[in-house]
Amino acid sequence: MSADNRLSRRSSLKAMGLMGAAAVSAAAGGSTYAMPSAAEPPKQPTDLRRQIFAKVWNTPLIDTHEHIDDEQDRLSADGKFAGPDDWTVVLSGYLASDLLSAGMPTDAHQKFFSKGVAPAEKWRLLAPHWPAVKNTAYGQAVRISIRELYGVEELSAATVEKVQQGYETTRRPGFYHRVLQELGRIESCQVNCLRTPFHRSKMPTFLMQDISIVGMFAGPNLSRFGEPTGIKVSALDDWHKVIDWWFDQYARYAVAVKSQDAYRRDIDYQQVPAEKVAAVFRRKLNDEPIGPDDQKALEDHLFWYAVRKATEHGLPVKLHTGYYAGQNRMPLARLINNPGSACELCRASPDTRFVFMHICYPYYEELLAVAKQYTNAYVDMCWAWIINPVAAKDFLKKYLVTAPANKIFTFGGDYLFVEPVLGHAVIARHGIALALSELVEEGWLTLADAMQLVDPIMHGNARRVFQLEEKHRTLSAAPWL
Ligand SMILES: [Zn+2]
Repeated sequence: MSADNRLSRRSSLKAMGLMGAAAVSAAAGGSTYAMPSAAEPPKQPTDLRRQIFAKVWNTPLIDTHEHIDDEQDRLSADGKFAGPDDWTVVLSGYLASDLLSAGMPTDAHQKFFSKGVAPAEKWRLLAPHWPAVKNTAYGQAVRISIRELYGVEELSAATVEKVQQGYETTRRPGFYHRVLQELGRIESCQVNCLRTPFHRSKMPTFLMQDISIVGMFAGPNLSRFGEPTGIKVSALDDWHKVIDWWFDQYARYAVAVKSQDAYRRDIDYQQVPAEKVAAVFRRKLNDEPIGPDDQKALEDHLFWYAVRKATEHGLPVKLHTGYYAGQNRMPLARLINNPGSACELCRASPDTRFVFMHICYPYYEELLAVAKQYTNAYVDMCWAWIINPVAAKDFLKKYLVTAPANKIFTFGGDYLFVEPVLGHAVIARHGIALALSELVEEGWLTLADAMQLVDPIMHGNARRVFQLEEKHRTLSAAPWL
């Protein structure tokens, strides 16, 4: 927008949404760039907003959900890192899905994300589709990261070589610390490793880990979970021992357990006794066919076995709910049941702390009701700021005047690579500051109330619920270091 816009500054700010305030301040300062920066909040028109934005920008975040590898695995030359290892790593994952959704042909898409293609050639593949995706929050997270890390304001034919150079000079030993801690002011992360049930991180107090429980019950995954234990599995009792082994080995080093099983079925797990599924499990071991009802009964039984173990060990249970990563496969007709099933889980096991992830987007209104009603229901806003930043702001506003403030976690990047986490964190800070500002401006909260909420929702709740002080002590002396 132009600086001589006839609208009053105040009303135009209200009307413009995510990037509005930054656009106005940038225009006033002579810059054309609109997106908020990691270093300081966008300029604000009122003292109230200045106070809230400054507090949110200066407050450390705890990042409660990532899939990133250790830095040394990312840097190692032994082939562990499977990506193209060029600037398109920063665009991979979520933005890659938006590109397909925008209609980028799959052959161009594959070439764009493959190894050994020159930056200029890659830009030619991207250029026709870039305007369609650059303003989604997947796109904005990437653009903010590219600007913050490589000093490039707009990705284009003219700047793509500089982006590649920036990628190379950034991706060096110590870059996790620089990107996440120094620039992102992220105190610690909670990682759900996708390669192994529990990852023995070499950066254990910074990249804290969840135990992945999904393969304990989905399938179950006999080789991945069974083999490392050395337990010979010939009956359901043995499989219980396998599950016990993972908790005995790693529960004290883990911050939570995690399951993304909702990508496959609803989270409507029934409490099924062992004797009802022992024969089904034997058939599974013998590779005999199993009908869908028996399969569900077996998984339901094992889900609760794993959840009971987590609860005994004091570990919260993080469950994916709502929106799917990827494209062209999401069955909303089933996902709409997630909040209702979440209620049944909370009722069935009042001692288990369930963390419902991603605000169950788009069914976040229903999840507010769950968090308000059930003592043991927690909500993690991980990923939500880049699925739909306006909805996430809306959710947080509603949450804070609906459900108890001690049960919400406001940030998780949910990325495989650290670079775009920075952009995501900036978007989250912007949304958190806007949500609190609007609640005060609309008369729902006093400024003092809003300021007092910042620490708990950005890190205090996570420190308490995941017992991070104690975990930090234990992990500092992890035996695999
Ligand atoms: Zn995730």
